[in-house]
Amino acid sequence: MMHFAVSSKAENFIRALPKTETHLHIEGALPYSLLQQLDPERYANVPDSWRKDFRFDSFQHFESELLGYAAAWFTAPDRYHEAAKLIFETLHKEQNVKYVACSMASGVIEFSGMDGHAVARAIKSAAPKGLKVDLYLGIHHNGYNDKTKNFIEESLTWEELSGYDLHGVEELPLEPWTANLWNRARDFGKYTKAHAGEFCGPDFIERVIEELGVSRIQHGVRSVESEVLLKRLSTQPFVLDVCPISNVKLRVADRYNKEEALRLLKSDVCCTISTDDPISFGNTLYDEYAFLLSEYGFSVADLARFARNGFMTSTLNDAEKAVHIGEIDNLLETYLG
Ligand SMILES: [Zn+2]
Repeated sequence: MMHFAVSSKAENFIRALPKTETHLHIEGALPYSLLQQLDPERYANVPDSWRKDFRFDSFQHFESELLGYAAAWFTAPDRYHEAAKLIFETLHKEQNVKYVACSMASGVIEFSGMDGHAVARAIKSAAPKGLKVDLYLGIHHNGYNDKTKNFIEESLTWEELSGYDLHGVEELPLEPWTANLWNRARDFGKYTKAHAGEFCGPDFIERVIEELGVSRIQHGVRSVESEVLLKRLSTQPFVLDVCPISNVKLRVADRYNKEEALRLLKSDVCCTISTDDPISFGNTLYDEYAFLLSEYGFSVADLARFARNGFMTSTLNDAEKAVHIGEIDNLLETYLG
């Protein structure tokens, strides 16, 4: 849908690059074609928000549209399976993705009354051969309540679940259950991460690091407002899963001039590139890389670095990591040669 002007040599490089998707919401990745099959009339046209120049008015504007699509499709675990299958196959075949860390939203389970464990199984079993998928449960700031408590507690023992992610409106208070659950999750061998630094500033990123004990941040782009934080994030084990087109369409990038907006990705902070919610942004992973190259002036060596970071911080085993990183290095050498 989106078009970014890159040379055919660079286009071939991006397409051939082995990639990871480590910031992807399953509901936000719902293939629009499935909605069109469901109700051809209602979904005859692709969303306006797929236009390159489209901007959302607010996070609420974005979220309400997204939840509308999700509610129309995600009515049963089978529907999750069907969508996840298409999402993973497309990522694997068309985007050369070898590793995915995605999340399912506890809010959808809460509102639909679906069996959360069945949903987790439905998603995990949709992964094709050659693509490793780690599944997270995304819980919004006020998402732990009387309706969800039981299944969230049970989810600590689901083997289909790799970890937990903090979702939703960032400005809402961080409730005490959160740090408690995040700590216990790690005791159960789960990974933990959090959305932070998209709409709230460096203070909130510091808070999720301190209080939730996370080292993997979804977005985290507002860290550029604090030299101290940037320096801290540039040390191990911190990782930021950045989604540049999402930041533009949600006007997060509007806070900064171009130089400032680029500082994080040019810094020593370990950043990866992902799509966040393609049904809302109309973006593919190819688009993200092409966007960085054509609109932000990054080099192909930078793109290779982002792809490498994705593998280095994945849960693939060392031999698998070495294969993909070796391929990235070879592609870069050939490109530059
Ligand atoms: Zn996200």
